[in-house]
Order: sequence, then C-alpha cells, then structure tokens
Amino acid sequence: MDFNVSADPPQVVEFRKEVSAWIAEQMRGHEHLRWSASWSTREDEEEYRFRRGLAQKLGAKGWLFPMFPKEYGGAGLTIDHQLVLETELFKFGLNLSHVFYTLARIVAPVLIRWGTEEQKREFLPPITRAEICVWQVLTEPHGGSDLANVQTKAIRDGNEYVVNGQKVMVGHHLPPDYLWTIVCTNPQGKRHENLAWLHIPANLPGIEIQHMYMMMGIKNSVFFDNVRVPAKYLIGGENNGWKVANTHLELEHGGDGRIGMDPLIERVVEYCRSTHIGGKPILEDPRARELVADMMIDLNTLRRFNQRNYWHRFTKKPHPYGGPQQRYFQRMMRLRNGERLQSLMGADALVQDLSVHEVVDFEYAVRTGPGQLHGGGTLDTDRLIFARRLGLGRPTKETAPETH
Ligand SMILES: Cc1cc2nc3c(=O)[nH]c(=O)nc-3n(C[C@H](O)[C@H](O)[C@H](O)COP(=O)(O)OP(=O)(O)OC[C@H]3O[C@@H](n4cnc5c(N)ncnc54)[C@H](O)[C@@H]3O)c2cc1C
Repeated sequence: MDFNVSADPPQVVEFRKEVSAWIAEQMRGHEHLRWSASWSTREDEEEYRFRRGLAQKLGAKGWLFPMFPKEYGGAGLTIDHQLVLETELFKFGLNLSHVFYTLARIVAPVLIRWGTEEQKREFLPPITRAEICVWQVLTEPHGGSDLANVQTKAIRDGNEYVVNGQKVMVGHHLPPDYLWTIVCTNPQGKRHENLAWLHIPANLPGIEIQHMYMMMGIKNSVFFDNVRVPAKYLIGGENNGWKVANTHLELEHGGDGRIGMDPLIERVVEYCRSTHIGGKPILEDPRARELVADMMIDLNTLRRFNQRNYWHRFTKKPHPYGGPQQRYFQRMMRLRNGERLQSLMGADALVQDLSVHEVVDFEYAVRTGPGQLHGGGTLDTDRLIFARRLGLGRPTKETAPETH
C-alpha cells in the first residue's frame, strides 16, 4: 500500500517551490541543527537561538500557523498549504508544531476555540509569530493524573483573580513569558465545575520559578504567592476550566496528529551496518535484523496513527479514541525501543553521543523511554480515556472534543 501523499493539487505547486527554496536558504549552514523537540535536555544555546529565530521568521510570514486568520498572526491559507509547509520542513527534520520550545501548538488552537474575539486579537499574534514562549503549567505536587483536583486557588477579587499555590514539573531551562494554567476558582464547588483556565503573564509579582533537575532534563516548580491576575486573562469563562482542559488535553494526548516520522531508525540501521562484531556487520546477525525490523514496524505504525489523527483533526471530525490510542502506543513503543537498543548495542546504548542531535542519540532514547511513560499524564490516564471513548464499563461512550 502506498501511504505517501500524492501529487500536489495545482493551487500549491508554486507554493511548494517557494517554501522549499525559502527553507533551504534558512537552513544553509545550519543543517546540523535538524530535528524538532519540544524541549532539550542538553540546553544547547546555539540550537535554541537558531530554532527560535527560524520560528520568528516563519511567524512573520504567517507560516507557523498557516491556517489561522491573518488578524491572529496566521496566513489564512488552506490545509494543502499547511501540508506543504509540514513536508518541506520535515526534509530538515523539523515539525511545524515544534520549531522552538513553546507549547504554542496547544495554546493557540485552544485560544481559537475558547478565547473571546478581544482575547484572540490580543493574545494570539505574539504566540503565532513566535515572539513569546508559553509553558503549560498544570501538574501539582499532590499528583498530576487527577487534573480536575487542582489545589492552586484563584479567588476573584473585583476585576482580578488572586492566585495561590504551586505547580511542578513544568517548562524547561529557559524562562517563560506566559503560564498557561488551570486553577480552582471555587474550593467548595462541584467537581469539574469549580475550575478556570488562566493565561498568566509570567512577570507578575508573586510568581517564583525554581529549576527541578530531573532524569529527563530541567523542569520547574512555579510558586504563586498572592499573584493578582487581571480577569482579562481568564480563558473560556468563569468555572468553565474543565471544558477548556478537555480541548487542551486532547491536543496534548495525541489528538493533534503529526506528519513526520521519528528519525531514530535511520541512525540505528546505519550503526548496525557500520559496526562489526566477529568481523561481520551487526545487521547481518538474524537476531539483530529482527530487532531492527520490529523497530521499523513500530515506528511506521506510529506514523500512521499520527497521520490519521492529523487528518481527523483538520477535517474537524475528531477520532473518538485516536488520541489516547496513539499516545499509549507511542509511549510503549519508546520503552520497547530503548530495550531493543540495549539488546543491539549493549553498553554503547548507555553512552551519550554529543556529536548528534539528542533525538537520534541512543542514550537519550534509552533514558527517556521510562520518563516519557509519565509525562503529560500516565499510561493509566491513556487507558482510562481510551476505555471511556469506547464506552467500556459505562452506559454511554465519551466523545472526543473538537480540537481545531
Ligand atoms: C518528562 C516530563 C515532562 C513533563 N512536563 C510537564 C509540563 O510541561 N507541564 C505540566 O503541567 N506537567 C508536566 N509533567 C508532569 C506530568 O503531567 C505528570 O507527571 C503526570 O500528569 C502524572 O502525574 P504525577 O507525576 O503526579 O503522577 P500521579 O498522578 O501521582 O500518578 C502516580 C501513579 O498513580 C497512578 N494513578 C493515578 N491515578 C490513577 C487512577 N485513577 N487509576 C489508576 N492508577 C492511577 C499513575 O498511573 C501512576 O502510576 C511532566 C512530567 C514528565 C515526566
């Protein structure tokens, strides 16, 4: 079966030429900085500055969010144009949604869905033009899986919310401009109806950020001490935070989809071809071939899940269980791949190789396999949502939220 996207429709043939030439020009001399990631455990300044600059140049043309209306910092283009941008960027290993380390890929569509017209006009352009960096700030010290139970309070006082509490395991090593966060507005209120979503400027008095040094790199604790947040930063209306959370979480939990493929396998094949054991390349060993083939099958399966979810998203027909299915598969696959790498390479798979990007570094793959089982909600969360969307153990099936 040929899964490749067929020839471009006539309206984008010229656009592909333009994009292809433009990206090649931007990447000239920076080819070693290929591959996307939402944050880096290596804190490489050169890479960050290049990627941030590239995001800003894409943003200035409206190409970072090409389908968004021009007044919100997009280019008012079609899905065909977006696919051109995705596929041309992917030739350099970059995903449109992860050009630099920000959660804009989730925040911007949620703002489109839940923001007022005034909020969209004010908050979206700096995000879609990559002028600012936003962190998602959800998890709290008592536990992240049960997000509806957040304890950070935001109590209304006139035209402001007074925020007190603590979030953990958020962001990366560089400071944020905004904190995109869920808070409890009514501690005595009914579960799911006592929450709000705030887009908080990170420089407000009373906010303190401390690094947390984790196996997966730097994350942070954020402390809110009587932070006065103007009510204009409330997204989705008072006590409506759980609905906003649903859109946000569906995008985070696989519902956004993706076009590109994980680049790791190319390097694994290359390693197994060029590394010899007993005078023969590893790849000639039948057991090694089987492991490499299993990795390829898993990575291709994941790619199909990603593409399917991408398609459902842009046709505005959310796949009922596509998000958690993709996410569960992806996380288990990463764990399996870490184990396969150790079987193939032994101790080599535990030694960092700083000459390659971390997303194709075997040590990074082995180290992050277990850590990524937990990030963005645990495997149990995936299973639970998957089951509910299938209607298992409940009289009605849950539907997937529209993600835009
Ligand atoms: C690499 C990484 C990056 C992260 N980045 C961010 C970020 O940018 N922003 C952010 O807000 N958070 C972030 N997090 C935090 C992440 O979202 C939480 O770790 C996650 O939601 C799980 O919460 P927890 O760690 O408190 O575990 P808990 O929720 O306390 O879970 C502990 C254990 O209990 C199990 N469990 C919990 N509830 C149930 C249940 N109902 N049924 C069965 N079992 C259950 C879990 O499966 C798990 O095994 C990140 C975490 C990691 C590891």
